[in-house]
Amino acid sequence: MEKRVRVRFAPSPTGGLHMGGVRTALFNYLFAKKHGGDFILRIEDTDQTRFVEGAEAYIINALKWCGISPNEGVGFGDGPHAPYRQSERKESGIYKKYADRLIESGHAYYAFDTSEELDEMRKRLEAAKVVAPQYNAVTRQNMRNSLTLPEDEVKKLLDSGAKYVIRLKVPRNEEIRFNDIIRGWVVVNSAQVDDKVLLKSDGMPTYHLAHIVDDIEMKISHAVRGEEWLPSAPAHILIYRYLGLENDMPKLAHLPLILNPDGNGKISKREARFPVFPLSWHDPREAMPYIGYKETGYYPEAFVNILALLGWNPGNNEEIFSLEQLSALFDFERVHKSGAKFDPEKAKWFNQQYLRKHTDAELAEVFKPILKEKGYERSDAFLADFCRLVKEKVQFVHEFWNHGKYVFEAPTAYDEKVMTKKWNDKSKAIYSAVTAKFTAVNDWTVDNITKSFHDAEAEVGKVDMQVLRVLVSGVAGGPQLFDMLALIGKEEVLNRLNIALSTLS
Ligand code: GLU
Repeated sequence: MEKRVRVRFAPSPTGGLHMGGVRTALFNYLFAKKHGGDFILRIEDTDQTRFVEGAEAYIINALKWCGISPNEGVGFGDGPHAPYRQSERKESGIYKKYADRLIESGHAYYAFDTSEELDEMRKRLEAAKVVAPQYNAVTRQNMRNSLTLPEDEVKKLLDSGAKYVIRLKVPRNEEIRFNDIIRGWVVVNSAQVDDKVLLKSDGMPTYHLAHIVDDIEMKISHAVRGEEWLPSAPAHILIYRYLGLENDMPKLAHLPLILNPDGNGKISKREARFPVFPLSWHDPREAMPYIGYKETGYYPEAFVNILALLGWNPGNNEEIFSLEQLSALFDFERVHKSGAKFDPEKAKWFNQQYLRKHTDAELAEVFKPILKEKGYERSDAFLADFCRLVKEKVQFVHEFWNHGKYVFEAPTAYDEKVMTKKWNDKSKAIYSAVTAKFTAVNDWTVDNITKSFHDAEAEVGKVDMQVLRVLVSGVAGGPQLFDMLALIGKEEVLNRLNIALSTLS
């Protein structure tokens, strides 16, 4: 019988959540939804030295912002396998129990080496030109562990409370094979695998042991995670095997890396930064709070859509998908092995598509406080009109300001390129005539403005619309000119024209 689909996102609270991490969460979520299964959030906080205050709340809030909600887990309500924080799970002695099982069956051992001794070993191996110095079947023979020390000495050390770690006893030369859902068969020789520490001297399990214990205890059916964990997978296979749990182990799926747009190298941290929420939190190790997708003005729906297509494709050319549509479509068959290129420009395009789904009134509502901060207030109807005009140009709501601030502020300078090219001795007379016609308009509508403009042209000949635009707004481009003049209002337009005519020579 197929196991019920139970997947987990298992971040370590060692900092803010990056794009790759959220994508892992998303793919887990989509897979669970597709199969009517469960999605669990487990916090893997056994590495006390890397613990960062606030990171857990950040992770939870980031998932909430994206709309990726686990059914069980820290911050989302307990399920049958609580607690979901490894530091709390440790209390029951569960990790130690599994480690002891491996000791008893001879597949793990105690190692008493101090950090100085380990340092020395590394130096020795480096001096001997060993490419990847590691604690393994060969090197452990020269170290202080329960495989090299006499039995009574080991007992004495343990009884005296000497510090030790428990290591996995990896065989010297054995083929380890496993079938990854995305990569297919992976074959590694055990000579490449080190004797991983399973239990640390502070009694805490390492990730390698803890995640296996928890995946088994929580009945996880698929372990879906980033490619960076692929090199550790052979050691994990051995642990399952030595625990007699190979048949119960979750299927493995390692997601491709996210790459820079040009495809060379992993995405930079700056680009991978994910929204911070609450806004006031920032990674205490970093001098500045980081600007994430949320602060940049991304819609969560757009962000999720972008992530979904990083390493997965729907099998056709469609690009815009809601979380619900994705849940119906997602499968691992369409997840690629090769790295997924992230294009920040394309990401903005996605946001624009979502921005355009909003009504003018909705956009106005969001823009209102931004405008207020700039010192301006306008009616809802005015702002909706404004958004309608400027909408085509913007990818983020905050860009309404940059693209349309001239609606609220008179220009302080006139586009130099246009003016140098087009302003001449006849200009003053021409635009004075236009100003005179505008002054005579009673009802300041687009139609009447258009008509009076043509009246002016009948009098003075062709009038360059771009120059007129620059005189009113200062800039060379923007929405349809007469729409823009109507929005700015008669009095303000005349004011600006008069100032321009009196300052320009
Ligand atoms: N705690 C690991 C991480 O931070 C989880 C890896 C896994 O999903 O097995 O990435």
